[in-house]
Amino acid sequence: MALVEQANNAPAENCHRLVILGSSKVGKTSIVARFLYNKFDDKYTPTIEDFHRKIYRIKGNAYRLDILDTSGNHPFPAMRRLSLITGDLFILVYSIDNRESFEEVRRLLDQIVECKSQCRSVKDVKLLNVPIMIVGNKCDVEKDRVIHQYDVTNLLEGRLNTASIECSAKKNVNIEDVFVRLFHTAKLPSEMSPSLHRKVHPQYVGKGSSPTGGRVMSIRRKTSDACGAVAPNARRPSIRTDLLVAQSRTNSSTSPDDDPRDAKCVIQ
Ligand code: GDP
Repeated sequence: MALVEQANNAPAENCHRLVILGSSKVGKTSIVARFLYNKFDDKYTPTIEDFHRKIYRIKGNAYRLDILDTSGNHPFPAMRRLSLITGDLFILVYSIDNRESFEEVRRLLDQIVECKSQCRSVKDVKLLNVPIMIVGNKCDVEKDRVIHQYDVTNLLEGRLNTASIECSAKKNVNIEDVFVRLFHTAKLPSEMSPSLHRKVHPQYVGKGSSPTGGRVMSIRRKTSDACGAVAPNARRPSIRTDLLVAQSRTNSSTSPDDDPRDAKCVIQ
């Protein structure tokens, strides 16, 4: 079966939504473009909301990573709230030369905690500790720096599952580490990081993996064989779908033992 079909049938626990938030012009879109395509564009194009899907086969299992690249200026507050409730992991971006963008990250952290604390499953306190990576972008403009390590240390104090890193999408500094560390915190396979899987075509089937023939790989080779592709023409799940997910996460009449992500994959 092609990678794209496998990913469509990925089990709920292997489907994750990564939401990227932060003020406008801090480099959110540039970080995503580096992660997905290893490209950088000097031009600024305002983002309303971009949706990307990366699909993987890792140790024989299908995974799906949906990436929501949001607008920095909150044109639709209700949409913002929906993205906070439906996100499984977050990257909050500021620019090291912009104090206001750092203060926006502080506000976003509080909003995530507030939104997640309304989720029914937060009866299990651990679920409040959603994986968050705070990213100081544009570290190539050191001469304009206004945000220092002590600012970040203060911000992180007492927050679980929250880490920080500086990077430059322009110079491709630490971009991979942003994702490696986030996946590690979220207990996702390290092979989801760009350098740890082969980039293949979404229709890739995989030599030797077919039970009906082809070259047969040794078990050892198969289990270490990780591949990934950017899903072509991936459509953002509808707002109705997001609302259903949000409802499943906040509806107290459902059993707190249910995993809300079950609803997510069924209704997409
Ligand atoms: P977004 O609005 O947060 O998505 O920001 P963009 O990714 O569109 O980037 C805004 C502007 O900052 C663009 O002109 C980018 O070329 C530039 N930019 C993005 N990342 C970097 C970086 O690491 N260093 C520098 N110097 N400029 C960057």
